[in-house]
Amino acid sequence: MDEKLQKECICLMCPSYVKCGEPLAYCLPEVSISQCIKSELGCICPGCPVQEKMGFDKDYYCLRKA
Ligand code: SF4
Ligand code: SF4
Repeated sequence: MDEKLQKECICLMCPSYVKCGEPLAYCLPEVSISQCIKSELGCICPGCPVQEKMGFDKDYYCLRKA
């Protein structure tokens, strides 16, 4: 688990985010999708530094990994 990247994850500021003690940075392969987040109320992944560093280009990683 890359804790440095997890600290940079901005999911906490996302309108869709539901706090329930899960590991952050859902975009990382080793982090599972969320069991708590259920609704798409907006996703701010496209503005996240981790997204840029990792070269990812999707969104809603908390709901779907593909
Ligand atoms: S891209 Fe999204 S899931 Fe990944 S670290 Fe950033 S805010 Fe979190
Ligand atoms: S993955 Fe996207 S939609 Fe899900 S909590 Fe993070 S920023 Fe919000």
